Amino acid sequence: KLHNELQELKGNIRVYCRIRPFLPGQAGKQSVIEYIGENGELVVLNASKQGKEGRRSFKFNKVYGPTATQAEVFVDTQPLIQSVLDGYNVCIFAYGQTGSGKTYTMTGPEGATEKDWGVNYRALNDLFRISQVRKNTFTYEISVQMMEIYNEQVRDLLSSDGSQKRYPLCNACIQVVNSPSDVLELMDIGLKNRATGSTALNERSSRSHSIVTIHIRAVDHKSGSSSHGSLHLVDLAGSERVDRSEVTGDRLKEAQHINKSLSALGDVITALAQKNAHVPYRNSKLTQVLQSALGGHAKTLMFVQLNPEVTSCSETISTLKFAERVS
Ligand code: ADP
Ligand code: MG
Repeated sequence: KLHNELQELKGNIRVYCRIRPFLPGQAGKQSVIEYIGENGELVVLNASKQGKEGRRSFKFNKVYGPTATQAEVFVDTQPLIQSVLDGYNVCIFAYGQTGSGKTYTMTGPEGATEKDWGVNYRALNDLFRISQVRKNTFTYEISVQMMEIYNEQVRDLLSSDGSQKRYPLCNACIQVVNSPSDVLELMDIGLKNRATGSTALNERSSRSHSIVTIHIRAVDHKSGSSSHGSLHLVDLAGSERVDRSEVTGDRLKEAQHINKSLSALGDVITALAQKNAHVPYRNSKLTQVLQSALGGHAKTLMFVQLNPEVTSCSETISTLKFAERVS
């Protein structure tokens, strides 16, 4: 109960930290993660500093170690998904450097089977499952949008011409869906549209934000009244800092856009967490597109993804500092 009250105070913002395992071929490497507690504590070794200075502790709502399964992670996400059916706006983000497991957490590994499904598919399955259970009391209409933000331009991934659209979320293509398999099909189309950029999908996906939005309209059979909830699933662009002395031209421009939008997101969530009167939504396309879904009666979950490798130590610390600021 106390925990719930604290959540209220924090404006319904949760931060879950997840540490990626070492990948095949990396066995036996030393991890920067020294300690993972049961209540969201985390201690990280900072290889570049000595003694006491070389250790930093953090505390989040949850911390998942490298052996946590997709199913275990989803258990703690599930209550948020249910609240979408009750008319809440929910945003789930994955934040972290490229290669830290953002896409794994949100979508799953490439060619995933059900057991490895990420939050996206599990959430959709739950939405359909619960709407079936409640079908004698409510009629639900479920619809989906998919978009990408690259260099501060919004691209509608479901419009047939894959055009660059600069107008807000409400104008992007909305597709009504009737089953999880409808959604899987749409996500496939979206992914293919995403890959038609000049760079390969992996490259592109690390430099753009991808947003899957699910809208739910519920009609109460008895009263005839309706409510609307939404779920935004956001796989953010890689948060790694780019060395300005090493990149130029397009690459530098991309990096600046990413940097700007991630810090704008941090500013918005921090302002919401502190219940500031002014929330600076206008500073990036990402926060503009998500404005109606952040704040007010909304619930936000940030997955903070960490790469355990010692060579990523300084990125890991900077990711954790971002997470600390928004939590
Ligand atoms: P990002 O989207 O942050 O760039 P990915 O999700 O693509 O990172 O993860 C990088 C690699 O690590 C991929 O090969 C992915 O399958 C693997 N990976 C990430 N998280 C896990 C995990 N929890 N368990 C197993 N493999 C993982
Ligand atoms: Mg990715």
